[in-house]
Amino acid sequence: MSHFLLDPRKSTATLRWLVFGLIVAAIAIASLFAAGEFGRSRAIAGTQSRAEDAGTLALAILRGELEKQRALPVILARDPDVRQALTGGSRHGLDLKLEAIAREARTAVIYLLGPDGVAIAASNWNEPTSFVGSDYSFRDYFRGAVATGGAEQFALGTVSQRPGLYITRRIEEAGQSLGVIVVKVEFDRVEADWRALGGQSYVVDQRGVVLLATIEDWRFRVEAPLDQATAAAIRDSLQFGAAPLTLLPLRRQGELVQGASPLTGRYVQMRQPVPTTDWALEVLLPVDAAITEGRSQAQALVALVLMPGTALAAFALRRRQHNLARREADARAKAELEERVAERTAELAGANQRLVAEMAKRTRAQERLSNLREELAKANRLATLGQITAGVAHEVNQPLAALRTYAENARAFLKRSDPTEADAALVRIVSLTDRIGAITEALRGFARRGKGQPMPVPVATVLEGALTLLEGPLRQAGVTPLMTAPPEPVLVTARPIELEQVLVNLLRNAIEALLEGGDGRQPALAITVTPRGDRVEITIADRGPGLSEEALAQLFTPFSTTKPKGLGLGLVISQDMITSFGGTLTATSRPGEGASFVINLERAAA
Ligand code: ADP
Repeated sequence: MSHFLLDPRKSTATLRWLVFGLIVAAIAIASLFAAGEFGRSRAIAGTQSRAEDAGTLALAILRGELEKQRALPVILARDPDVRQALTGGSRHGLDLKLEAIAREARTAVIYLLGPDGVAIAASNWNEPTSFVGSDYSFRDYFRGAVATGGAEQFALGTVSQRPGLYITRRIEEAGQSLGVIVVKVEFDRVEADWRALGGQSYVVDQRGVVLLATIEDWRFRVEAPLDQATAAAIRDSLQFGAAPLTLLPLRRQGELVQGASPLTGRYVQMRQPVPTTDWALEVLLPVDAAITEGRSQAQALVALVLMPGTALAAFALRRRQHNLARREADARAKAELEERVAERTAELAGANQRLVAEMAKRTRAQERLSNLREELAKANRLATLGQITAGVAHEVNQPLAALRTYAENARAFLKRSDPTEADAALVRIVSLTDRIGAITEALRGFARRGKGQPMPVPVATVLEGALTLLEGPLRQAGVTPLMTAPPEPVLVTARPIELEQVLVNLLRNAIEALLEGGDGRQPALAITVTPRGDRVEITIADRGPGLSEEALAQLFTPFSTTKPKGLGLGLVISQDMITSFGGTLTATSRPGEGASFVINLERAAA
């Protein structure tokens, strides 16, 4: 959780979405509002146009009725029956005629007033509310007709209490007024037709008093408050009876009209004058439903456009963020990789350094080892030399002492003039000097060797040389050595002359051992060359009497020999030489089973 909050990348993304949401919300609200306004004004305009149509129709209905009814007084004023009734003819006959015409023309009442304003005939003669006999001289429509020849007045009937338009015409004879014909028109059917148009319609006179209306209750109400004088005059005239002249339940609200109780909702109002009158016709059409519908239609349209737009924008934002995140992840992965590569490189460099150090250490160790070997070889040699020196003293002193004895003997024999004995002593002396010579010769060999570096030497060549040197002794002993060696040339690191000397020495010892007595098994002498990895073993095995354990232990000690004429230096010097090549010389033997000498040398490349 805290990880999410603390991650700057994620919080940036969240912020972006928040901003996006706010922008979308702002755009949506603004667009929906604008669409609402647009829908509203379109709905109002549409309703206004409908109201105009309704007004035209309502006006046509009204005018049709007016024109039809207006024709009646004109015609009746010339009617002979009407004139006769005024000049003493049958009045009841006229009653009947007027009744028929009124029924036919759907006229409320038709009646004839005498010159004094009293009704002398009426279409409603038969009804309880019959006008016949009533005095209408106070009515403006009577006075107007007498004065000007014709008049129209909308008023409430005094007897019937029903409102209507009174249309009058003067009937004259030679410039004399005989009477006035009156047609009362009631507009119930006109109002009913208006209702069918929808909305509300009403007609006001020039003072703003409602004369006709689709709502009965609105009659004789006023559009705007009347001044007191006008109101008083209207009341005094009894034109509208005792009507209180209250305000219409309508309130202007900008371009619309708000209905007050019991009328609800808002309306579009169209006003037009009614020609040939001083009236005006008002038509009200309800507009709320149209506004609601127009608004929601426009808003739905905007939403339809907005939603894919928002989705598209969200998709684009999502893609952008996705790409951004991917790029970041890639960069992170790359950085991580680089870091790891750097780490790995450092590790490798470290390992390399360690390796170099290790190699240096090894080299140093190797150097120390070979130094040590050299030291050891030197020490070995010095020890051998010490042994030899001590041995030489003993070996030489003994013959020297014998020489002295034999020399003195020889002198004594010469003094006694015994030449035979003297000669015998001298022969012994010669033999002793030979022995001493042999010792010194052997030691010279020991001292002389070791000049020059060991080199790759073919084993076969050196063996061949050694066997050639020993051809005579081998023949004498009747021994044919068995050679076993790999077919390919085998090379060892050595000095060839010295290696040959060693081989001669070992082979000579073997021949001597065989002469001493073998076990008879064949081969009596075997020479084997065996490469073992980077070393080579040269084995010389004989089937002679072998060595006792004691002799084996003393084998490489100077001057240890079992032979009467032996010096006991051959193996010592041989081992010294092999050691100086970096090799070893070892012996194994079991008494009665022969001896086996193994030279182990470093194998050399061709
Ligand atoms: P030398 O031959 O002069 O005695 P070496 O050092 O060559 O000196 O030999 C030392 C002794 O080792 C010999 O006297 C002999 O007793 C013993 N010896 C060497 N080679 C053999 C062998 N192949 N079989 C038995 N004894 C051996």
